[in-house]
Amino acid sequence: MRAALLYGPQDLRVQEIPDPDPDDAEGIVVEVEAATTCGTDVKMWHHGHRVLPPYPCAFGHETAGTRADTGERVLVSDSVACGACPPCRAGRPQICRCPSWVLGGFAERIAAPEAALHGIPDGLPAAAAAMAEPLAAAVHAVDRGSDAQDAGILGGGPMGLMLAALLIGQGRSVTLADPHPERRAQAAQLGADAAARLARHELVFEAVGRPEAWRAAVAAAAPGAVVVLVGGCPSGSEVTLDPGPLHYDELELRGAFHHAPAEVDRALAALADGLLPREMLLGPTISLDELPAALASPSGGPAKKWVVDPRRTMR
Ligand SMILES: [Zn+2]
Ligand SMILES: [Zn+2]
Repeated sequence: MRAALLYGPQDLRVQEIPDPDPDDAEGIVVEVEAATTCGTDVKMWHHGHRVLPPYPCAFGHETAGTRADTGERVLVSDSVACGACPPCRAGRPQICRCPSWVLGGFAERIAAPEAALHGIPDGLPAAAAAMAEPLAAAVHAVDRGSDAQDAGILGGGPMGLMLAALLIGQGRSVTLADPHPERRAQAAQLGADAAARLARHELVFEAVGRPEAWRAAVAAAAPGAVVVLVGGCPSGSEVTLDPGPLHYDELELRGAFHHAPAEVDRALAALADGLLPREMLLGPTISLDELPAALASPSGGPAKKWVVDPRRTMR
């Protein structure tokens, strides 16, 4: 089969590799119909990632397709928790100490443990279903917040927009801040107030993943606020936070990482219910051969995901 393999930083090659073997321990073979790209893929392409196996390696973690054995349409979740470590036993599988990662959506086929597979609701196209992977993380992040009516979101990428859609769906008022006017327009389309900077809010979500954004999220917190850090800063990043408000304003900083399996099903149901305008985040559908150029293309402009359809040949 054809697959996109990372050979090192910014070295992505599309090549023929052996098909996954349904009889080996990797699990169920899924014929990929859509694998969406996200900021994590761009990071992986630029400088690798702690969850990647040694090079050369397959990647792509937002994957939807059809089970080769039963024909059922499924979303392939990107990991399976161990079920035995202390966080798993405490009901927090998203911070499992030894998850099995299921990467390799940028290929014609992927093998995944059955526990990673989630049935796709009828009528939801594969490309939209693939977005349940990041949306599940947004569902989790909203649950990590408080029930404050007034929320601010820093960052209008796909994650920030998904957070906005979920919070607005719960009847809350949302302000989303992003320097790009195109992303502010997307937020406004969802019903959020859009701004270049955040004022103070009782509930703040950071959805950028850079040290300066963590700092800005704390600066945008009203006294007593909860600040949910959704965007990841790699370990060792230097984050300088003003400690004053943490103490005097009793701010609560909460991390939100990844998602639990039930949150993937909630995300699929929300997508089937039309949580997001279908075309808002889905960019052009491309072939595997077009993926290297897509990952190298500059970000900016509206928040969009590329949809890789590995059945497609180069246009
Ligand atoms: Zn992703
Ligand atoms: Zn575990």
